[in-house]
Amino acid sequence: MRRLTILLLLVTLCNKSFSWGFYAHRQINSYAVFLLPPEMMVLFKPNIQFLHEHAVDPDKRRYAVAEEGPRHFIDIDHYGEFPYSALPRSWDDAVRQYSRDSLIKYGIVPWWIQTMLHRLTAAFKEKHQAKILKLSAEIGHYIGDAHVPLHASSNHNGQLTGQHGIHGFWESRVPELLAEKEWDFFIGRAQYLSNPLQFTWQRVLESAAAADSVLKIEKKLSVDFPADRKFSFENRNGVMIRQYSTDYTVAYNGMLNDMVERRMRQSVYAVACFWYTAWVNAGQPKLDQLEEEKPMTREEQKAGEEVDKRLKEEKVKARPEE
Ligand SMILES: [Zn+2]
Repeated sequence: MRRLTILLLLVTLCNKSFSWGFYAHRQINSYAVFLLPPEMMVLFKPNIQFLHEHAVDPDKRRYAVAEEGPRHFIDIDHYGEFPYSALPRSWDDAVRQYSRDSLIKYGIVPWWIQTMLHRLTAAFKEKHQAKILKLSAEIGHYIGDAHVPLHASSNHNGQLTGQHGIHGFWESRVPELLAEKEWDFFIGRAQYLSNPLQFTWQRVLESAAAADSVLKIEKKLSVDFPADRKFSFENRNGVMIRQYSTDYTVAYNGMLNDMVERRMRQSVYAVACFWYTAWVNAGQPKLDQLEEEKPMTREEQKAGEEVDKRLKEEKVKARPEE
């Protein structure tokens, strides 16, 4: 029992610093539903709770499945200078130039979103409700990650510049404090993406370009801000947690010129566009008359059981430097 508690604690702590925090990922998937056309809303709205909950499954899986980690980021600065023209945007060309192993080492999020898009399109064609919802929830996760600047930087947790913790600060603390109270998620309708890969690359390059500001601005603030007011303690479920103080968080958000809100809004829009594009490419199947529960195949069930088993055995692997 104690081992399990420790494991869960570890998972919770690590998750905080890996991608949009759990809170933001869930909100992104939920808000995206409202950008869909009515023909899709009939399925997505009644299942909004599922999309909300399962938005974070890919992060949970990282600890049990070795291949999962690289799907969430790309250390794009490994490939030279912005806009990284040396790195081919298509997977096949990139493999030819750098080898598959090398690409995987530095992260594959832009290409993984394409894989997920194909899977989701196939699920729509199959009219397989369980798969459509699962894949929609999960592609939403990867798209969200691609919008986080520090997911496109090798200095992903400020470990190279003495800013350890900045990852969770930007993507968890800021939205948890401000999103509900102050941010606007009224966004237009989902659009069809005629070139989804190009769309993703554009967003990834924006992330990469913003990473520098994310880091430099926090560095400046940490120098200017009174050191004794930088952190505060908060009681969360009976546990005292040390975190960036409200004043520090608000000051950082202001200096970033609302970057976090902007990226979160863009994530919501992008997720809805990918869902919509998959549905259109599948021939716009009617979603109001799907078979309620087509069972998963034996292989799919086995894959799920394997993850559970590995989790129980605590074969936990995380990105070590966090
Ligand atoms: Zn992630």
